[in-house]
Amino acid sequence: MSAASRPLTILGATGSIGVSTLSVAAHLGIPVHAVTANRKVDELAALAIQHRAAVAVVADEDGYTELKRLLAGTGVVAEAGAQALCAVAADPGCGAVVTAIVGAAGLHPTLAAIRAGKRVCIANKEPLVMAGALIMGEAARCGATILPVDSEHSAIFQCLEGHRPDEVAELVLTASGGPFRTVADLGAVTREQALRHPTWTMGPKITIDSATLMNKSLEIIEARWLFGVGVERIRVLIHPQSVVHSMVAYRDGSVMAQLGRPDMRTPIQYALTWPRHDSGQVAAPDFAALAALTFEAPDTARFPSLDMAYAAARAGGIAPAVMNAANEMAVARFLAGHGRFTDIFTTVERALGDAPSLGEPSLDDIIAADAEVRRRLAG
Ligand code: NAD
Ligand code: MG
Repeated sequence: MSAASRPLTILGATGSIGVSTLSVAAHLGIPVHAVTANRKVDELAALAIQHRAAVAVVADEDGYTELKRLLAGTGVVAEAGAQALCAVAADPGCGAVVTAIVGAAGLHPTLAAIRAGKRVCIANKEPLVMAGALIMGEAARCGATILPVDSEHSAIFQCLEGHRPDEVAELVLTASGGPFRTVADLGAVTREQALRHPTWTMGPKITIDSATLMNKSLEIIEARWLFGVGVERIRVLIHPQSVVHSMVAYRDGSVMAQLGRPDMRTPIQYALTWPRHDSGQVAAPDFAALAALTFEAPDTARFPSLDMAYAAARAGGIAPAVMNAANEMAVARFLAGHGRFTDIFTTVERALGDAPSLGEPSLDDIIAADAEVRRRLAG
């Protein structure tokens, strides 16, 4: 069986990445083993039936009865709960797993897929930010193949193919700059403005993260673990057109870039078909029609999130997990219509300031640190 036809489990199938992944799987003819969702049982059942999944899992156990009713007589098995999420990620019935859950909630199922030695296509970056050392260590120990789905990391992965980390001068992560790239006063921007991303269509949490540039902060730490390059050699560059998805600068002054349309089906497909570039659904950019590709340095005064990522990475230990948890809480609060956009920065900064330093945290230490930040910010 070729790599691209191993049955697939999609964690977070009802979301933006999940639905794009199902489209890629249908295009490539990859069978779907399992689909999962947090609560949206109607959408989950419809996707499971449409894509002939063997199993559908709703994470929230309150949705189990309804999911079972919706799937009765369809041949799709209904399951529920956190254990079931991990079970479908590790099931011998699937060869590859796409992690498309949003946030820290994806940590355990990601680890379950890795420990089962799967091809693990990682979109869900937050677990890598929280516990990158442990996750990469488990992947090496268990023989799992980790492939990036995040467009920047897919680009860097492609630019690095055939090269070694010691040839690299710098990884250059590009960022669109979000909807507020040219807005002087971020204190007054609204939730609706923040949700209007200029180039990408994505789930609400990452759309806010793109507006604060916290998404790029998470991506700095994600890149650090995926590619084993220290954060002092990872640089962010604003590129409003989102055509150059990221670059690798080599020590001889040569720079490799990967380009494409801002459509996640391209990096999702490459994670599924690697090491091949097969026929896809997305056309190459039309360069004659592109007016210009422009680049500028990020404004770290208006967007302090970038420096927080470097500080958290340098501090190590639980600091990145604290940064992530505080950001998740602050974004959820802003999305619920409370507080100002800039409160996200102050919340994360304060949480990082309060975080105790811890050398090499265990998984339990990281989970406890995450829970402690959430408890404090919920109160
Ligand atoms: P989304 O909000 O559209 O979808 C999230 C999915 O996760 C849904 O299926 C939802 O049911 C599920 N989910 C949410 N909370 C859960 C929980 N507590 N337990 C179990 N399942 C839960 O999100 P998205 O935009 O598709 O992003 C998913 C992940 O991929 C994020 O980590 C994001 O940073 C990353 N990512 C997204 C894009 C993009 O274009 N959307 C690009 C790069 C990386
Ligand atoms: Mg990205």
